[in-house]
Amino acid sequence: MMHLECECGNRTNLFATGDRDEHGREFIELEDDDRFSFIIGEDSLMFKCSFCGYRYRLKSYE
Ligand SMILES: [Zn+2]
Repeated sequence: MMHLECECGNRTNLFATGDRDEHGREFIELEDDDRFSFIIGEDSLMFKCSFCGYRYRLKSYE
C-alpha cells in the first residue's frame, strides 16, 4: 500500500485493485477521492489536495 499525504495533514491511501493490464501492471486507485484528486497531463501527473487546495506535480521522465 502506498500513501499520499499533504503538508496540511490530509492523507489517503492508494490501493491495488487486483486488475492488471496486458503487461502485468496492476491498476491502483485512490482510497478516498474526496481527499485528493489527480489529473493526468501531457508530461505530468498532478495531485490536488481537496482540503487546502495545494497541488503537487509529478513530472514524467522518458
Ligand atoms: Zn492539503
